[in-house]
Amino acid sequence: MESSVRVPRFADSHAHLNNPDFAADVHEVAARLKEHLILNVAYDIPSARGAVALAERYSNMYAAAGVHPNEVSKITEADYETVAALARHERIVAIGETGLDYFRHRAEADDQKAALRRHLKIAREAKKPVIIHCRDAFADILPILKEEIDPISGGVMHCFSEGPREAEEAVKLGMYVSFAGNVTYPKAQNLRDAAKVVPAEKLLIETDCPYLAPQPVRGKRNDPGYLVETAKVLAAVRGVTLEDLARLTLNNFQKLFLGAKPARAEIVYQIRNSLYVNVTRDCSNMCDFCPRLDNPTVQGHYLGTSRDPSAAEIIAAIGAQRPDEVVLCGFGEPTMRLEVIKEVAVEMKKRGLKVRLNTNGQGSLLNKRDIVPELAGLVDTVSISLNAPDRETYNRICHPNDKQHAFPALLAFAERCRDLLPETVVSAVGPVEGVDMEAVRRLAEETLRVKFRLRRLDQVG
Ligand code: SF4
Repeated sequence: MESSVRVPRFADSHAHLNNPDFAADVHEVAARLKEHLILNVAYDIPSARGAVALAERYSNMYAAAGVHPNEVSKITEADYETVAALARHERIVAIGETGLDYFRHRAEADDQKAALRRHLKIAREAKKPVIIHCRDAFADILPILKEEIDPISGGVMHCFSEGPREAEEAVKLGMYVSFAGNVTYPKAQNLRDAAKVVPAEKLLIETDCPYLAPQPVRGKRNDPGYLVETAKVLAAVRGVTLEDLARLTLNNFQKLFLGAKPARAEIVYQIRNSLYVNVTRDCSNMCDFCPRLDNPTVQGHYLGTSRDPSAAEIIAAIGAQRPDEVVLCGFGEPTMRLEVIKEVAVEMKKRGLKVRLNTNGQGSLLNKRDIVPELAGLVDTVSISLNAPDRETYNRICHPNDKQHAFPALLAFAERCRDLLPETVVSAVGPVEGVDMEAVRRLAEETLRVKFRLRRLDQVG
């Protein structure tokens, strides 16, 4: 199939190039896809050996060992011993696929559950993640995973086939969630809704080839070359570019299966055509939902700087790039470095670029003066995290250092921005239990008279 989209580098978290469907041309397929990472997953013992053989031959391929739930009625003790032995192989990066399949039901439910528990035990002992197949069995699989999964090595719900509520349950367990070609099918709105709610740092993508070719090539033999069609749909659903989607799922693949640590923290990073500036990791809040201390990653960009960059370092990192806008933010409060953001903004305005400030709205409180007049002419849009309809709720979920003054200072700041700057937007991360989002919206639109945006924490822009 012809495509005009430039294909970025992808990681296919679940392929079966070890399947007989590829027997005639697997090496041609491998040659065509050598820049992508591919995990070939076993469904029985011969296919596990086939996956290992491919991984030994191709450095961009990895293998998983296990016996599919459809095959476990014939499983033997010797098979488990083989899986456990293969688990020690350096190119085996996961155990699976295992799980429960009540859709095809080729094995008794009790046999499937017993096999799943054995695989989870092997995964725990090998300290490797587990690849879970689940069809029409979510209610049964969840308690088993809760009991048996190793929280450190974790795992992935492959070819996710449930809705958003189940996706959130899986994420609560620490699982990654992987979407296959069926997310592109016209009737699969439930899957697209699920794909929307998975946090960026838990999202994976897969072909499950030779099955489930995405919509434009539906019915053909699937292969990792078609992953881009699934990625296009996921990117559109999540409001990011194809490059953003490829980067974050590749990083997640490397983290889950290869134990990769982030290479280095980024001072500036691109999402869509906006260039974000990682101004600081310091903040005057400690919001319940903020990942800045334990996982400072956004859309696959690692922001865990060991020190704050100077204005000169930021400007050098921006270089000659000309994005749609430069966003002063970071996993911290940029107005804590007011002089730095002003210096950067002055330079960006000289270049004719749009500047946005993402803030918790406490800048005037923190700098002990009304700072909004200083931002006029430098900042085109200010985006303020409101998050709560009143001080008590704000203090409960955002834990500001100054509990008495933070919320009223935020409201006063928003009003000053509304009056002095071209555009002011306030946002709330939600839904959050116990927070009346309708009341937050009313406060924004009716009292502050500014635009309101409800967003998930990892929704950027
Ligand atoms: S205000 Fe933003 S950066 Fe600060 S703790 Fe809250 S979410 Fe994190």
